Amino acid sequence: MAGYFVDRRGFRSFVKGLVERYLLYGTTLQEGFPVFKKIETPEELVLSSTPTHLSPKEFLFPPEELLLRFSLEDGRGEPVVDAPEQVLMGLHPCDIHAIGLLDRVFSHGTGDVNYIERRRRTILIGTECLPDEYCFCHSMGTMDAEEGFDLFFHELKRGYLVRVGTERGRRLLERYSKPARADRTHLEEMRTHREKKLESFVRSIYARREELPLVYAGSYEHPVWERIGSRCYGCGSCNHVCPTCYCFDIRDDVTLDLKEAHRYRVWDGCTLEDFAKVAGGHNFRRHRSERLRHRFNRKFRYLADRFDGLFCVGCGRCSRTCLVGINITDVTNELIRDARS
Ligand code: SF4
Ligand code: SF4
Repeated sequence: MAGYFVDRRGFRSFVKGLVERYLLYGTTLQEGFPVFKKIETPEELVLSSTPTHLSPKEFLFPPEELLLRFSLEDGRGEPVVDAPEQVLMGLHPCDIHAIGLLDRVFSHGTGDVNYIERRRRTILIGTECLPDEYCFCHSMGTMDAEEGFDLFFHELKRGYLVRVGTERGRRLLERYSKPARADRTHLEEMRTHREKKLESFVRSIYARREELPLVYAGSYEHPVWERIGSRCYGCGSCNHVCPTCYCFDIRDDVTLDLKEAHRYRVWDGCTLEDFAKVAGGHNFRRHRSERLRHRFNRKFRYLADRFDGLFCVGCGRCSRTCLVGINITDVTNELIRDARS
């Protein structure tokens, strides 16, 4: 993968070019917290070294999305695909891996037209990061991104080392900045940062990730589920902040004049009480302990075979967000410890 160097001036001109030409979503600070939002001026973009609370999945898989519009007068319906050309900038390696997993999910079988079209028209730009006290991507094999992006920026003292992932990315970089070839000192600086990153993790999973499906398979009756289930609010926040949770509900509504109907989807979450409730009122996972066990198993076991990968990228968002302090690494490490004893 080719490496380029862009100085700070070149970086500003690159961002300016993106703002002028594209719908740009990037990271900025809001009340001191890093968030993704629409960037309207180059100054608004603040590349954050720590993760955003909400993941960038909403730009590819919106929380609410219109899928079909029906006329109730003539019975005709039309699909709705709203897929603007857009750039996502400030994606950390874990986010890039998470998007790779969503790509597999939404292109599985017949494929999800809305997601696929939006993804096709989305340029992904990664940036390097540093872990906070919840990150554990180094345990999940997602600390580095070697593919899955168009461009990837590593901040250096005097500018940025830029890795190019696609021809589309290269064209973009050359159009809006004047990149030079990266030299040995730039690569050295990038490696030093990576070593610092590796040393900064305070959380780990105490088993190889290949072992985790088996650990979870043997932990179905483990007391941890009752324990964390008794604290959990069933609020769904962990599902909603997770970059790889993709469950949704389909709903219909009718306009007040009864002329048109809409079918849309909204995010759903397996920790919410109604998620597994079916007609007649039966709930397959009535207790919060059952719902949490289901969620954790989805991340580390159930989806592993179907999509050839674990569905946790170690971003720590669920633990960071949980009001009652349920931490995915603590739970997993307890299961690992007891599986080995
Ligand atoms: S964020 Fe915490 S309290 Fe809310 S559903 Fe998830 S585990 Fe339960
Ligand atoms: S399960 Fe938690 S740590 Fe894993 S990807 Fe989802 S939010 Fe991140």
